[in-house]
Amino acid sequence: MAGVDKCILCGKCRADSALLRVTGKEMLTARGKALLIMKGILDKVFYIDPLNDVTVRSCPTNVEISEEVRKQRERLVENGIETKANRRMIDNIREFGNPYGSLEKKDIKEVYS
Ligand code: SF4
Repeated sequence: MAGVDKCILCGKCRADSALLRVTGKEMLTARGKALLIMKGILDKVFYIDPLNDVTVRSCPTNVEISEEVRKQRERLVENGIETKANRRMIDNIREFGNPYGSLEKKDIKEVYS
């Protein structure tokens, strides 16, 4: 598997991007994220990713975009940039030992990945 420096911006990963099909946003494809990383742009968009390796299948240079996204998430956290859902999930794990909070409520409305 290769790092984002091996991305040749060919766009083949667009065909496998469910996020692109649903949202129409190029930024959510592996190529879009690779471009952000190459330009040094740290954006919450890196939290919008299923972290699966579907796009790797079509990538001619075997860019492992999920690993690159994980690294960007680490940078986001190090810079104090997080989502409300992430903060809630972390607080719930610390307080209740699971990401959903009190299981006695039985009204789980959010699922985290
Ligand atoms: S398929 Fe691979 S090389 Fe092509 S744009 Fe996507 S991540 Fe880059």
